[in-house]
This record gives sequence, structure tokens and C-alpha cells, in this order.
Amino acid sequence: MQKKKKNSLSEQKQKQLNQIQKVVTDPERLAAVKNTQLLDTPVEASFDRLTRLASKLLKTPISFVTLLDKDRDFVKSQFGLPEPIATAREIRAHPSFCQHIISHTEPLILEDARTDPLFNDFPSVTEMGVVAYAGIPLFTPDGKALGTCCVLDYKPRKWTKDEIEILTELASSVMTEINLRTVAAQLKKEMQYKDEFIGIASHELKTPLTSLKAYTQILQKKVAADGNEDVLRGLNKMDRQLSKLNMLVGDLLDVTKIERGNLKLNKEKFDFSELASEIIEDMQKTAEKHTIVLEQKSTALMHADRERIGQVITNFISNAIKYSPKADKVIVQIASSKNKTELRVQDFGVGIKRDKLEKVFERFYRVSGLQENTFPGLGLGLYISSEIIKRHKGDIKAESVYGKGSTFSFSIAHNKSLHS
Ligand code: ADP
Repeated sequence: MQKKKKNSLSEQKQKQLNQIQKVVTDPERLAAVKNTQLLDTPVEASFDRLTRLASKLLKTPISFVTLLDKDRDFVKSQFGLPEPIATAREIRAHPSFCQHIISHTEPLILEDARTDPLFNDFPSVTEMGVVAYAGIPLFTPDGKALGTCCVLDYKPRKWTKDEIEILTELASSVMTEINLRTVAAQLKKEMQYKDEFIGIASHELKTPLTSLKAYTQILQKKVAADGNEDVLRGLNKMDRQLSKLNMLVGDLLDVTKIERGNLKLNKEKFDFSELASEIIEDMQKTAEKHTIVLEQKSTALMHADRERIGQVITNFISNAIKYSPKADKVIVQIASSKNKTELRVQDFGVGIKRDKLEKVFERFYRVSGLQENTFPGLGLGLYISSEIIKRHKGDIKAESVYGKGSTFSFSIAHNKSLHS
């Protein structure tokens, strides 16, 4: 009789080990654990709050949350664990209570593990001196066992129904936290894919666009020489549309560069007023209704990326024209003091409501929203402009009175060596 009991116990233990091996190493379960992106992540207050609360409410010296990897229990959060586990944040003892829980997919409640023949030889009991234990499995919404939320004590303990309920509630909170992390990580990944896609797509668009523009210009010259006015007008329109497309693709490429931290500046010394005048002259040619007035022509030397600064000026002026369809004037002012140079672009257009003003420098932000087609655009120009100015350690500002008009400005401090 005694022999039979012994046999059946060792059979039970073997079964227990087999089951642990089977469930812990299940590739789908391991993928779910990896998917949380929590393995080997640092200590986090939101998880620590829950383990601290578990120990406080249940009056246990130790509580922890584990995620079960193939060959270890990763301790995501803990309260009271002894060294070296507390610092190592992993338990490699085998079999562990946590492994038992996830392989049996149910809570494990032990009053005194030392007297339970199924658990009394577990390393936590023989090596760590654990006596009482209560652990709840953590499941993903689709039923994959990730790990456990558990409390333990060094003395025997009768766990009450209320205590188990509290632990179960805390385990649910842990799971909510894990799910939030998983969703956030997925969103981040999708954003990365989107950024990568924008990068690849704009790069692929750039090459055919450049050659289209080159062919158009060759044709423009040829047709101009032949004197065919009608065809030339068509070609000129085509060229203008290609330029717009080129700018849009350029903006997308710039955004990719900014996101990757690759927006490089090629600084040089140049005459800022001359640059502004050149841009105004150029933009005046295509402005059908607006006169662009340069009010102050003080000469200002600047040490900056001429092309990038020109891009900001162009963006300000083209916005001023675009968002003031009923006006006929845009004013550009340059003010240069001993310490800095400032450029302001004022329009008399639709203006921007106060609560939207701060957001105009955000990526993809458009006051009119996506569905509004009145003013075409991607919502990138001001984002890129603000990044360019930021990289020059300058200031960028928007002021506006809704319905009356806006003023966009930037200023850049003079480099001390500029005038030497
Ligand atoms: P886009 O003009 O392509 O939408 P921008 O980044 O240049 O992108 O501008 C972001 C948003 O700020 C615009 O969609 C517009 O709503 C608002 N905005 C920019 N400039 C002006 C302006 N001069 N007047 C009124 N609104 C403006």
C-alpha cells in the first residue's frame, strides 16, 4: 500500500514536470511573452506600485510579477525578494511555482509547501525557505499564459477567500498594464513602418520626377525657339505643377530625415537680405494676385544653412499667400540687431484661432483638418521649418488674429565670429 502511494506520487511528479516542460516551451506561448516586449525591460513604477500594494494589503514579506521565458522566470516587478534575485531579476530554479501555475492554468494556493508532497522539494522551498504561497496566472486576452502575480511568506499561512480575491484583482490590474504596453509597442512599430514607407515612397517618386522636370525644361526651350505659344503655355503650367509635386516629395523626404536625425546643416556665411530678396523676386513671378512687399532692406550677414533658411522663408511666404485668398498683399520684414536677425511674414488672411496656434508646428497638423480641401497641403511645411530653426538654435513664432491675418517669424542669433 505504502509502495503504491510512493509510486503514484513519483508518477504525479513526473507528470507535473512533463506538463511544465510542455507548456513553458510552447512556441506560441513564448511568442506571446516576447510580444509583450517586457522581457528584460527596466523596473517600472506602474508595476512596482502593484507588487507593493499586494504585500501591503496581504501583509506578505514578498510579492512579485513574473513573465515566464523558456528557461527562466523574468521578474518584472518585485517587493521584498532577497538578493541576488532582487538585482538579477530572474529566477532560474526549476521547477518553480510560477511554472507550475502556468502549466496548470489555475491559481496555486499553498498554506505550507513543506508539508505538500507535490511541492516540498521545489527549490523555492528547500533553498529560499518559502513556506506559504499564493499565485495567480496572467493570461493574454486570447488565453496565452504569460506569467504570474504572486505573494509568499516564510511561515505557514491560511489564505482567506478575501485575500485570494484581492490578489486576483491585482493580477487583473497587472494584465491591464501589460496589455497597454503591448498595444503601445504595436502602435510604435506601426508608426515606424509608416515612416519607413513614407521614406521609401518619396525616394522612389523623386527620381522619375526629376527626370520629368528635366525633359519638360528641354521641351520648353525647344518650343520657345519654335515660337509655338500655346504649347509653351501648356508646358509652363506643367513645369509649375511638377515644381509643386517636387516640393511635396521634398517635404516628405525631409520629414524622414528629421525622424531619423539625419537633417544635416551645411553652414556658410551669407547675406540674409539678399537671400530674402531673391526668394521674394522668384515667388512674385508666380503669385497671381499678391504683391510681396519687402519693408526693410537692412543688410544682415548670417552664418547658417542658406538653402534650409531659404526653405523656411519660402514656406512662410507661400503659406501667407495660400491662406489669404481675398487679400492682395504680403509683407516681409527683416530686422537685424547686434545680436540677432529676425524675419517676419505678415498676411491679411483667414488667421488661426488661439487654441490652434501652438499646434501649427506639429507634424501633419492642419487647422482645417484632413477633410477640408479649401487649402491643399500636407501639414508638413511648418513642422520642417520649426525643425530647421531649432537646429540653428533659433526661435520660431506664430501670431494671429482669427479672420484678420497672421504673422510668422523666426530669429537666429549671430555667430560671434560672423563680423570678425
Ligand atoms: P500646409 O500648409 O501644407 O497644411 P503647414 O505646416 O505649412 O502645412 O501649415 C500647417 C497649418 O497651419 C496649415 O494647414 C494651416 O492650417 C495653418 N497655417 C499655416 N500658415 C498659415 C497662415 N499664414 N494663415 C493661416 N493659417 C496658416
